[in-house]
Amino acid sequence: MYQVTLIPGDGIGPSIADATRKAIEATGVQIDWDVQEAGVAAIEKFKDPLPQQTFDSIVRTKLALKGPLTTPVGTGFRSVNVALRKEFDLYINLRPAKSMEGIKTPFHNIDLIVFRENTEEFYAGIEHYIDSRKSAAETIGVVTRAGCERIARAAFEYARKHKRNRVTIVHKANIMKFTGGLFLDVSRKIASEYPEIQCNDRIVDNMAMQLVMNPHQFDIIVTTNLFGDILSDLCSGLVGGLGMAPGANIGYEAAIFEAVHGSAPDIVGKNLANPSAMILAGAMMLDHIGEAKAAEKIRNAVAFVVKEGKTLTKDLSPNKFVGTTEFTEAVLTNIQ
Ligand code: NAD
Repeated sequence: MYQVTLIPGDGIGPSIADATRKAIEATGVQIDWDVQEAGVAAIEKFKDPLPQQTFDSIVRTKLALKGPLTTPVGTGFRSVNVALRKEFDLYINLRPAKSMEGIKTPFHNIDLIVFRENTEEFYAGIEHYIDSRKSAAETIGVVTRAGCERIARAAFEYARKHKRNRVTIVHKANIMKFTGGLFLDVSRKIASEYPEIQCNDRIVDNMAMQLVMNPHQFDIIVTTNLFGDILSDLCSGLVGGLGMAPGANIGYEAAIFEAVHGSAPDIVGKNLANPSAMILAGAMMLDHIGEAKAAEKIRNAVAFVVKEGKTLTKDLSPNKFVGTTEFTEAVLTNIQ
């Protein structure tokens, strides 16, 4: 029996978290879920977006499945997602983007993985207005040698273990000569320890263009926090959008699994959310705890339902679609 903290989250979170929990349970893997609140849901109940008991639960289980959490834009409390990644030192944000048959996209057979540094740079929260009139503001992005080393090593170790061919280092070292330069320099040094894996690098703006023109030239992408956030959404667009994009936040001690997408306020309460991204994040969690067969069952079931094309959510099939619940039922039937 595994102990897992389950955070349903905000917006579409509770509906897709429920779908994911059912999908995992349908595989037969026994999980003792500790359901906890965070985000806007927690403010209403505990007056705190990250209540102590939620934090303590993850300290205990070291494993969480998390729905998206709303972060107010430009004001209000700081991101709970970022706080969790910092508190538990979840330095790897692993975001795969893999094509599934049946989804209409410009490219087929996409199989990309973004390794995003998850704790440093512009997400560290070192920012302020320079005066009381708010005439200017600054955000400081600190990049450390140790931080670069561990994310680059994670990408190359993954490539070696999973027999992937190439790692592309993405940076802006032409302009940000110190933070970008350090990331590039350290990543290249780590690359030299993995001679069997091809390594190249791209400046981020060129990378964005090449990803949408010729994505097949890439395999694994390793990059800093902000670029990784943006490019992983771009990669999800290559395989059907945010509804299909799972992610993992992994540290030395703990790991939190979630969809790449947010709380999708525009579709809340309409039974329109595609639960696949979070269900596939659940499969990544099963892989992480050594339940590879159960993970494969889930991935196969989602792939089957998508390929069959009879019960697709609106994001995948805008003219003829079913709701979150019907899609989930179809996936559950195929897992069983
Ligand atoms: P979003 O990812 O919530 O939504 C972007 C677009 O994608 C919307 O049109 C939405 O309807 C659609 N979408 C997202 N998930 C979908 C799904 N499963 N099925 C179908 N359509 C889906 O991004 P946003 O609107 O920019 O952000 C909303 C909130 O989410 C913000 O408060 C933001 O801070 C937060 N957020 C949280 C996380 C997280 O918890 N890890 C990640 C990103 C954004």
